[in-house]
Amino acid sequence: MSLAAGRPYLAIPGPSVMPDPVLQAMHIPSPNIYEGEIVDLMASLLVDLKKVARTDGYAAMYMCNGHGAWEAALSNALRPGDKVLVAVTGRFGHGWADQGVGVGLEIEKVDFGLKSPIDPARIEEALRADKEHRIKAVLFSHVDTATSVRNEAGVLRAAIDAAGHPALLMADCIASMACDRFEMDADGVDIAVTGSQKGLMVPPGLGFVFYNEKAKAAARARNGEVSRYWDWGPRAEPDWAYQYFGGTSATHHVYGLRKSLDMIHAEGMEAIWHRHAVLAEAIWAACETWGQGGPMTLNIADRKDRSHAVTALGLGGDNGARLRKWTETQAGVVLGLGIGMAERDDPKGDGFFRFGHMGHVNAHMILGLLGVVEAGMRALDIPFGAGALSAAAEVIARG
Ligand SMILES: *Cc1c(COP(=O)(O)O)cnc(C)c1O
Repeated sequence: MSLAAGRPYLAIPGPSVMPDPVLQAMHIPSPNIYEGEIVDLMASLLVDLKKVARTDGYAAMYMCNGHGAWEAALSNALRPGDKVLVAVTGRFGHGWADQGVGVGLEIEKVDFGLKSPIDPARIEEALRADKEHRIKAVLFSHVDTATSVRNEAGVLRAAIDAAGHPALLMADCIASMACDRFEMDADGVDIAVTGSQKGLMVPPGLGFVFYNEKAKAAARARNGEVSRYWDWGPRAEPDWAYQYFGGTSATHHVYGLRKSLDMIHAEGMEAIWHRHAVLAEAIWAACETWGQGGPMTLNIADRKDRSHAVTALGLGGDNGARLRKWTETQAGVVLGLGIGMAERDDPKGDGFFRFGHMGHVNAHMILGLLGVVEAGMRALDIPFGAGALSAAAEVIARG
């Protein structure tokens, strides 16, 4: 017997929970892509996406996932043979670097391991060593979704400036946009990428690239070498509707995204960042309390370095996998699996798991999630400290 029937909760770090109004907005017959409502909708998306990224620069949309957005950014701003410096804080820095190899870039990695944020001093040092300015861009994950570490964009910009280096700063905000505070222009980021299926609460299928004048100039310097399909210029500044998506538009995603942006701007970016911060703090309070009487550990020790969108946890042995199976089959909550965390005595990473708490998530969902996890640990005889749910409720009560 199981208690899982009822509305399921996919608590993995993307795709995230989709709001009913977003789903309903997509439930329409095919629209005309050349004229009519959708043309105005696409123009409005660019305006409102830029408000989410906090930039007065440019926004380009693609029919792709986050990997496509990665490639779009690299393909426009850099040319084969260019060198990039990749700050790696988990799995996703390696992924973006691998894509760089695929488009002909020379990669230099600075690896900060699986438990720490970027140390800007090491980036500054690497840039100072690059006397000939061969490094054209510094790439980093704002939030690494495997480790759940959060990196500050502003301190990286400061490090680049302190080194007197002209490199572009490129941010992967796929996990963090509309969850963790990110202000592209104020933080001095030149290019930021994200996708539709995390904080933006839309099904997977859209990738977004934001870029400023400096990045636009770098792209222009390529003199038409960019592949027609990835070229961000016509997408960001189209002459006619067909160019927003470089062909047929992502019709139903356009309607879903229009609705999600309406919801985002009705709530307000500050309120969204605050909601994610409080819900994350409630999760941390519970997990830290469980850890006082059992094997539960938060992967990132220092609260200031933790994402508000995803939390990576360890339970040792194969307890992460056992717990995930229990919560899914017995309680209707799907937890994220640990990725990129395998160790010598845990080659599959079964000791780890993750909570996704990005986008359309509120207090009752988080308290439900935490209650289910405690029930699962009890059912599986995994020891834990007492009082975790009270600790989480206390955080929520303070708001
Ligand atoms: C999800 C994610 C990606 C990959 O996005 P896909 O849509 O799966 O291609 C890349 N970077 C980060 C930080 C992510 O969270």
